[in-house]
Amino acid sequence: MSFDFSELPRSSPLSAEQLQQVFAELIAADTWHRYSGSYGEQLSKLLREEYQAEHCTLCCSGTMGIELALRGAGVRSGDEVIMAAYDFRAGLACTQLIGAQPVLVDILPEQPVINAEQVAAAVTSQTRAILVSHLHGCAAPLRQLREIADNCQLSLIEDACQSPGLSHEIANRVSDAVVLSCGGSKLLTSGRGGAVLTSSATIAQRMRIHTWRGNEAVPMSELQAALLIPQLQQLHEFNLARAAAVQGMLAEAGSADMPFRILVTDEILQRQADHAGRAVAVYYKLPVLLPSAPDPQQRQRILQMAQERRVPLGQAFQALQTCSAKSRFRAAGSLNAASDLADRLLLLHHSVLRADDAGDLLQKLADILS
Ligand SMILES: *Cc1c(COP(=O)(O)O)cnc(C)c1O
Repeated sequence: MSFDFSELPRSSPLSAEQLQQVFAELIAADTWHRYSGSYGEQLSKLLREEYQAEHCTLCCSGTMGIELALRGAGVRSGDEVIMAAYDFRAGLACTQLIGAQPVLVDILPEQPVINAEQVAAAVTSQTRAILVSHLHGCAAPLRQLREIADNCQLSLIEDACQSPGLSHEIANRVSDAVVLSCGGSKLLTSGRGGAVLTSSATIAQRMRIHTWRGNEAVPMSELQAALLIPQLQQLHEFNLARAAAVQGMLAEAGSADMPFRILVTDEILQRQADHAGRAVAVYYKLPVLLPSAPDPQQRQRILQMAQERRVPLGQAFQALQTCSAKSRFRAAGSLNAASDLADRLLLLHHSVLRADDAGDLLQKLADILS
């Protein structure tokens, strides 16, 4: 079957039938307008089961989830929070909002993965937490970070906004809190929304104190929760389908001479699922690395051409050291790998990763990028 781009951008994770079913149920129950109720409770329960966590705090966005997790971990004004210099900006902004100091460390060369050795070297007596994301299908080295966190008595916060349902075997789920996003472009989406999972009663209680102001200050609504429940139930199946599409693309790319490289590790290439049948790589966006940084006009041309051909190709994150005044963060060592990746990386949105003609998509990418 040929990949029909005219079908884009229908990227809703629920079919029209599924949506009709959710809305029919909402109309029949007539409870969707309540402040809280059974949908939020059911979603919390499903997420606690998925993450084997004692507590689930539903909230209004992944960004707010990061702020809550930082506050839950006891991060205060004057503390330091270590994070990768290549990451989404929310972690930097939330840390600064609390009055704490972001400490940026580099990533591994040509990988959106924090350099754990640099994390160890960046710890000071002010450090309170490590905040780390699983980005673009690449898992963060949580085991190594846990060891550092234990040795230095730090909290480890996992930003899983891009990787809901990532195999526990791969994620080595050992963080103190996991943050999820249900934003409009994400794999689980209700347009807006987020959640924090933790098994620490202290973290959960601190977040509760922060959110409860006579009413929930940063809530998720029943309507949002109702739309997320069926998505969570099909999440693993969809994650596997996306992983299979990526494997298909890589198998095709293997023999061809492509003007780009898809950043997927060999381990992931060889193994699609873990022992429990869960995806070992979760693709919110697929990372496409160019051999060198395009100049601004070239970049503009690439993005324009992608748009014309209905390929949802977008820019990578900016390196965080370029997003903030120098006085508002500390750079721990060189951040060259982060700026190099930010300059050379493009991201393909997951809406095309459920199609079954990987070859066609690859060819379109090759045309755009050559
Ligand atoms: C999207 C995203 C967030 C923020 O989530 P929102 O729900 O949009 O606030 C945080 N971290 C990462 C890595 C993300 O991709």
